[in-house]
Amino acid sequence: MKLPKWIDRRLWRAIVEFKLIEAGDRVLVGLSGGKDSSFLLTCLRALQEHAPFPFDLAAVHVDQGFPDVVDLTPLTDLCAHLKVPLEILETQIYQMAFMQEGQSPCARCAYFRRGFIHNYARDHEYNKVALAHHLDDAVETFLMSQLFAGQLKTFQPKSYLTRTEVTVIRPLLYFREKEIKQAQRLVAFPPINTPCPYAGHSMRATAKELIGNLEKMNERVFDNLVVAMREGTKQDLWPAPLAKDEFRVLMADFWHTKQKLADKEDNME
Ligand code: SF4
Repeated sequence: MKLPKWIDRRLWRAIVEFKLIEAGDRVLVGLSGGKDSSFLLTCLRALQEHAPFPFDLAAVHVDQGFPDVVDLTPLTDLCAHLKVPLEILETQIYQMAFMQEGQSPCARCAYFRRGFIHNYARDHEYNKVALAHHLDDAVETFLMSQLFAGQLKTFQPKSYLTRTEVTVIRPLLYFREKEIKQAQRLVAFPPINTPCPYAGHSMRATAKELIGNLEKMNERVFDNLVVAMREGTKQDLWPAPLAKDEFRVLMADFWHTKQKLADKEDNME
């Protein structure tokens, strides 16, 4: 399959700029079966056919063990159609992550899911795990980090995990979510709908809605967040807060200087 030029260019831009895929890599795609990961697998398979260097490609799906059984046929059909080996991991993530009442399970759910994928990659000698995060995901994470964790950060295009010795790559980082939706016709089978009751009600969904609403007021909002997310952007931040001891020393200095000035003035009178 040949990809449309604009998709091909966008993928190669990320792959070359961040050195995501290199000759001899064994790449494992995290395939949830949703629109993003199905698109990623389709793109990487097309790329594999025309890339100037060889790399291996396979997919892994983590079955989270939801009570409602999910029909995985579109996903197995997609992999068969693309001739990509697929492994389905049966897990108890639903039981492990969803049983604490009153708390969103998303962080634990994502943590366990990542753990299963990374361990599988390590055990089966895949050196890269490709995830389908796109530009909207990166910007939403950047905003969520500020709003909910007080940190200026987002996930990296590529990160090496020392525990499993696997490198996580995100080849879709130059795609907007709406572009992936538009390009769904390239994916041979429909995406799977998640039975997760939290889908669409997570912190991420809140950040997405917030950005969407702000974009209605100013169409530059999203692009400005993308610029702010990159290193080298003009920063004008406050200095780091002082530790208690540092503050005490500074206070003592301040009063000492003030006293010295007052003494000097007294002596001059
Ligand atoms: S929305 Fe559901 S599946 Fe997605 S991270 Fe949250 S709990 Fe897990």
